[in-house]
Amino acid sequence: MRPCANLGGEEKSVVPREVLTTDIRGELILLGTGTSVGVPSIGCPCDVCTSDDSHDKRTRCAALVGLPQGNLLIDTPPDLRQQLLRERVGLVHAVLFTHEHADHIFGLDDLRLFPFYLGHPVPLYCEVLVEDRIRKSFDYAFAEMEPTHAGAAPQLTFQRIGLAPFDVLGAGITPLRLKHGPRFDVLGFRMGNVAYCTDTNGIPPESLALLEGLDCLVLDALRMRPHVTHFSLDEAIEVARQLRPQRTIFTHISHDLGHARTNAKLPAGMELGYDGQRIRLT
Ligand SMILES: [Zn+2]
Ligand SMILES: [Zn+2]
Ligand SMILES: [Zn+2]
Repeated sequence: MRPCANLGGEEKSVVPREVLTTDIRGELILLGTGTSVGVPSIGCPCDVCTSDDSHDKRTRCAALVGLPQGNLLIDTPPDLRQQLLRERVGLVHAVLFTHEHADHIFGLDDLRLFPFYLGHPVPLYCEVLVEDRIRKSFDYAFAEMEPTHAGAAPQLTFQRIGLAPFDVLGAGITPLRLKHGPRFDVLGFRMGNVAYCTDTNGIPPESLALLEGLDCLVLDALRMRPHVTHFSLDEAIEVARQLRPQRTIFTHISHDLGHARTNAKLPAGMELGYDGQRIRLT
């Protein structure tokens, strides 16, 4: 047992000599695959919410990508702390955001430890609407006033992105526009031959063109019935049939879809994702 580093209080903070973490280079981990209220949903007595199958326990959506120069987190959901502890990943080098909904940003405060480990603020890659929402919702992280102590608030910097491809942590990322119902435009991301497209029910033609030739597509599929801001399972299957990736993994799943019984009926090459699932980057 090592004594723990002092990460707060009145004394000067101590950077730990080493960070307990796992090497995830070359992998994308689905940290969470659940819809905005999670599965089980609080108070729900349904078969899926009371299932003993660990695949039916779905935390809020996020992914972690092991890139050549570090770990890129996609979104900061409210379950972030538990997700990183579960995967034994102790270090996040940068964060990329799909959009500004509560289930995708409200774990942002859990980034507070990483500036101690990295020696600099955590860069957040996002569009302007996401930055505006984060600045409002986490105003204490951007206050003019000197913090009472080191680590009192997350230290963050913003890197504005749009639809132009960019490099982060030694890898190229291609953002693509997705429609998330009538009011919200969000980003999906392609990294090599793997793409992550959550919170969507419409993919414009120019984005479909960027999703050709994939080895793996991670795609929103909320439930059986249609929804105003998410693909239903049938709609998502249709997109996968059109794009024909080698493998399609569905995410942002509600309690309508039991893992085992849904997977048994899905077409070849398609499956429901689950928390902790690892996908090889290609
Ligand atoms: Zn969501
Ligand atoms: Zn339920
Ligand atoms: Zn959303």
